[in-house]
Amino acid sequence: MKTLLRGGFVVTGKGSHRADVLIDGETIEAIGHVLSRAPWDTEVVDVSGCYLFPGFIDAHTHFDLDVCNTTTADDFDSGTRAAIRGGTTTIIDFACPNKGETLHHGLQLWHEKADGRCWCDYGFHMTIDDWNADIEGELDDMFAAGISSFKMYLTYPAMLLPDRALYEALVALRKRGGVCGFHCENAGVIDAKIAELKAAGLSDKVFSHPLSRPDYLEAEAVGRILRIAEAADAPVILVHTTNRASLQEVDAARKRAQTVYVETCPQYLLLDDSVYYDADWAEAAKYVCAPPIRKKEDAAALWRALRRGDIQTVSTDHCSFTAAQKDMGRDDFTKIPGGLAGVETRGELIYTGGVAAKRISLSAMCRALCENPAKLYGLYPRKGVLEAGSDADIVVYDPKADHVLRGAELASRAGVTPFEGFRTSGSVRAVYLRGTLAVERGEVVGGQNGQYLARGKCAL
Ligand code: MN
Repeated sequence: MKTLLRGGFVVTGKGSHRADVLIDGETIEAIGHVLSRAPWDTEVVDVSGCYLFPGFIDAHTHFDLDVCNTTTADDFDSGTRAAIRGGTTTIIDFACPNKGETLHHGLQLWHEKADGRCWCDYGFHMTIDDWNADIEGELDDMFAAGISSFKMYLTYPAMLLPDRALYEALVALRKRGGVCGFHCENAGVIDAKIAELKAAGLSDKVFSHPLSRPDYLEAEAVGRILRIAEAADAPVILVHTTNRASLQEVDAARKRAQTVYVETCPQYLLLDDSVYYDADWAEAAKYVCAPPIRKKEDAAALWRALRRGDIQTVSTDHCSFTAAQKDMGRDDFTKIPGGLAGVETRGELIYTGGVAAKRISLSAMCRALCENPAKLYGLYPRKGVLEAGSDADIVVYDPKADHVLRGAELASRAGVTPFEGFRTSGSVRAVYLRGTLAVERGEVVGGQNGQYLARGKCAL
């Protein structure tokens, strides 16, 4: 049976227009004046007054991940359920082998965590935290398995690679048409700052976290990896970019004709570092993530960059912990598990803070949440666009259905949101995953029907 969504505004990366959408099975059959193609038994759904977005893609999640001697509150079951409720029909999580383990092992482990449990479609990036001939020898198999994007870290001893390895890995990926994301923060100086803050008796202060990881030590790492990428003649993705100084490094690299893709997240666009100075320790600790949330001027710079197209994607870095888990760091700020819940709220937050606040257009939102991640991560045009032949992943967004975000009401097992009490402009009313209704009136009605997505190469 076919489904006809009537009366909505179809949003694309170029503009939005009034059009009907005809779904046949898992894909979109036609868009526009399509009534004549709809047989008598077509289910007709009135979506007048609503925007129809391609299903949102969140290319940065961490589900079922061991961090700081604990495991994220959300696994692939609750995490993807939260995702689809917020309009995200595709997530890309980071498979993460430990140093000394093979990439194959990491991939198998992530399939074991995810397969059969996902409420939305899913793929994996592969983390490279070790580099040698054996790892390089595994890369072709990774591409064959649908892994076309990778990640390396410039901080954290457990993940850190020396410059030669960064360079050689970038060359090896470039030769195969792969792309690599980087967590950019300086390692050694941050460790020294942590030691200084502890020696000064500030271990139990949450604000020691942002003080130990300043914006310029992120920008330093951004500048360094961009120079290493220049040597390797390789494209770079900067994940969770937070500040103006880092964007200046990006500008400089682009002026050298380097290819740089920039991702940011809602918490860096909509919050500022005053959250770390709350007198209530638990309240402040809720916001601990790395890199930390920056200043208002940084958020303003991120919005400008997003509007100009200098930032390509908005993902979430969803890495959720309960209040009890955050409490493990009560006496030592470095033991607060770092990460925030976000996969469920990104669409409404960016619509509210971006489109409704007139900072960005509907099309810019569509590019950042749908089209660009689909192209960057080898999913386009199956995902990321509403057109004939694409998967019928559709978000029905009602711009008039404002509501207030409450952590306790979200599907995430974190029980908290960094946007507690935030009033949205509009809300996700319904979501289709490959033609099947997965969310109706804001409630999840689908099943664990998510499919693994073998991805192709970057086309952005
Ligand atoms: Mn992350």
